[in-house]
Amino acid sequence: MYFVEVILPLALAKTFTYSVSEAEYHYIQKGMRVAVPFGKSKIYTGLAIDLHQNKPTLYEAKEIHQILDEKPIVTENQIKHWQWIASYYMCAIGDVYRGAMPSALLLENETLITKNTVGFIDESQLTDEEFLIYQALQQQSSLKVQDVIGILNKKNIFPIIQKMIDKGVVVLHDEIQESYKPKMVRYIRLHSKYESNEGLNELLSVLKNANKQKEIVLTYFQLSATNHKKPISVKELTDVSNSSSAVVKALIDKEIFEDYLIQEDRVSFTGDSNDNLLQLSEAQQKAFDEIKSSFLEKEVSLLHGVTSSGKTEVYIKLIEEYLTTGKQVLYLLPEIALTTQLVSRLQAYFGNKVAVFHSKYNNNERVEVWNQVLQNSEKAQIVIGARSALFLPFSNLGFIIVDEEHEQTFKQVDPAPRYHARDAAIVLAAFFKAKVLLGSATPSLESYYNTAIGKYGLVELKNRYANVRMPEIVLVDLKDKYFRKRMTGHFSDVLIDGITEALFLGEQVILFQNRRGYSPLLECMTCGHVPQCQQCDVSLTYHKHRNELRCHYCGYSIAKPTRCHSCSGIDLTTKGFGTEQIQQELIQLFPERKIGRMDQDTTRGKFGFEKIIDSFKNREIDIMVGTQMLAKGLDFDNVSLVGIMNADNMLYHPDFRAFERSYQTMTQVAGRAGRSEKQGKVIIQTYNPNHNTIQQVTNNDYIGMYKEQLYDRLIYKYPPYFRIIKISLKHRDFNKLKEGSIWLYQVLFQNLGIPVLGPEEPAINRIRNEYIRTIMIKIPQESSIVSTKKTIQKILNSFDSVAQFRAIKVTLNVDFY
Ligand code: ADP
Ligand code: ZN
Repeated sequence: MYFVEVILPLALAKTFTYSVSEAEYHYIQKGMRVAVPFGKSKIYTGLAIDLHQNKPTLYEAKEIHQILDEKPIVTENQIKHWQWIASYYMCAIGDVYRGAMPSALLLENETLITKNTVGFIDESQLTDEEFLIYQALQQQSSLKVQDVIGILNKKNIFPIIQKMIDKGVVVLHDEIQESYKPKMVRYIRLHSKYESNEGLNELLSVLKNANKQKEIVLTYFQLSATNHKKPISVKELTDVSNSSSAVVKALIDKEIFEDYLIQEDRVSFTGDSNDNLLQLSEAQQKAFDEIKSSFLEKEVSLLHGVTSSGKTEVYIKLIEEYLTTGKQVLYLLPEIALTTQLVSRLQAYFGNKVAVFHSKYNNNERVEVWNQVLQNSEKAQIVIGARSALFLPFSNLGFIIVDEEHEQTFKQVDPAPRYHARDAAIVLAAFFKAKVLLGSATPSLESYYNTAIGKYGLVELKNRYANVRMPEIVLVDLKDKYFRKRMTGHFSDVLIDGITEALFLGEQVILFQNRRGYSPLLECMTCGHVPQCQQCDVSLTYHKHRNELRCHYCGYSIAKPTRCHSCSGIDLTTKGFGTEQIQQELIQLFPERKIGRMDQDTTRGKFGFEKIIDSFKNREIDIMVGTQMLAKGLDFDNVSLVGIMNADNMLYHPDFRAFERSYQTMTQVAGRAGRSEKQGKVIIQTYNPNHNTIQQVTNNDYIGMYKEQLYDRLIYKYPPYFRIIKISLKHRDFNKLKEGSIWLYQVLFQNLGIPVLGPEEPAINRIRNEYIRTIMIKIPQESSIVSTKKTIQKILNSFDSVAQFRAIKVTLNVDFY
């Protein structure tokens, strides 16, 4: 008897055993996909991870449905890495598998397929079976896999659908995503009927009397002769021939040209790569050498370089070294929106060796990059991506860069696996004996701590490139300004003067307002004080329905005070203000000026983010108001003033990392100012100009911030000294949830012998009709993480076996951010 061990793309911790024939047993290799039946009628794409002859004891092994691959498409290192993620982040291996694979590689019988509306479909390239499906999709908008089985009257259809996805004829329904629409560029080509020589003569006679059109066609031929078959965009054609797109349209209507769309960041690079142009400065060269020598002893190094010090150029030189040895390089970014800028920077240097991968790409593209990486193709020797690029089938990985390593977006929040891409990257690198470079102007406390204890190397760039000066920081005391009536709305006189001056000089301005979290705070309008929890060192949040302030970590609570504890003022508020309000006030203050806004609302739509960035770069916008997105590594050359509208709502965010994050965000936003010759200026409005964190930002004192925060982390039991696991429980029934969470808390508390906090209600205690409770576990350095997690898992299993708690949803967030 022969068996294969299979991971299913479901939230199941176990693998499943299926039976196979002897021939199949010898054919299947670890890392190949097999379609397998599951439950009554489901078929899933599973992953073979082992072959053996041990009959399962608890159930009768079913036969597999079919083998889907001829060669493994997942490597053994990947499987090892996924198993590590499942165990460290306490989730199901099936969750990791499902999260890691492009969904086109995970067809199941419920999958909906629809026609691909983008790109050109060449019907003559379709097989008969493919054509039948294609036709069916002209009649109805989507088909289930079951329907396809009906249409073709056969069972074995996954490979056919797969082919059609590869050909770009169909897409999977679930990937119709609105959040990311890549920029499409329109290209033009000659209709196939004119491709031959006779066709050409015919064409010229058709156009005899249409001079403008003829001119364009001739330009088209010229371009294609010099371009070596590179696609010709409508824009290029009209630019070169000096004509309008209306003429092009006329030619399309006449069926002389055809147009088609290609996503901009996927057009392959065609210029020459210019290896020798980049010359490192002395400081950069020194950093480069230091990183290399630190890699002789350490696996991981941190490049701590101030904003605009030229970290990217150091990365480029390092990448170059790994490429010459034939190794693959992975470049992780915190934000998809940053890829476009970086891709063009890297392509200018490495030409066609750069591939982009992220979860918002459609399936075809993701599968394409997946395969290129699997085949160790030159085209994907450098992969740039957000955190999911970590799951690609590398075989020869030599180097990983984690840029802006402090960014919290590297931690996945939902769904499982809730992994931290930086930490998971370090584990992945170890499997390949590859090196990891973390880079940031404001490193996370955890990473800096690791350099301090000698685990990671540390390399610094202390000055900006080309000796551009760090921006000058001006503090504005809001208390004083309100008292002396020097405020117009949320703008102090100092800020208004600063903006006026910058605009007068033709420079641009960025205004930053922190996105207010979902936790409302009680803030004194007179002195800016926000009440804190004495035990947890976080701000208390306001719970409206109970009219009280609570610590959402430990549950400490007080009645809502009527007077400020600090200044006895009576003017207390729970309302913050957002970017929209600032934009409105600006329109009143500077009616002649163009004002842009960059936040979640304005960047959601089609190309939202890029459009706004582009128009700001092109100086069509004078003042840009925005949230955190502004802080992320963008490079603008004409911004001389950055204003931070209110530093306090960052400082008092109810989160144990609030001061660290405030330092990072303010320093990063400030870093957008004065990136060319002229020294930039930053105006910070705050009620607390003497707050240590504000002073540290002003003095560019990272070490001061680090030391102070590290001490607090020790006292209040937080990372890097303690590891935190947050457990969330959810259920529709308030009482059942309450009972269940108290039960779980008590059992954890009695069995673990380490700090367990809660069960606590978040300020928003109900989402989509479900109530929420949270429990926080703090694991000290001296406890074994592995055995603590084992105990927790055991307790969760018994929780699950209590009948009345079974319906309560439990999620775990290890190293909760
Ligand atoms: P960081 O990532 O450290 O904030 P960047 O890598 O964006 O800094 O560099 C800041 C600016 O300086 C960029 O405009 C970059 O093109 C320029 N720059 C940095 N190093 C060099 C170099 N060696 N040669 C030319 N320009 C450089
Ligand atoms: Zn507390």
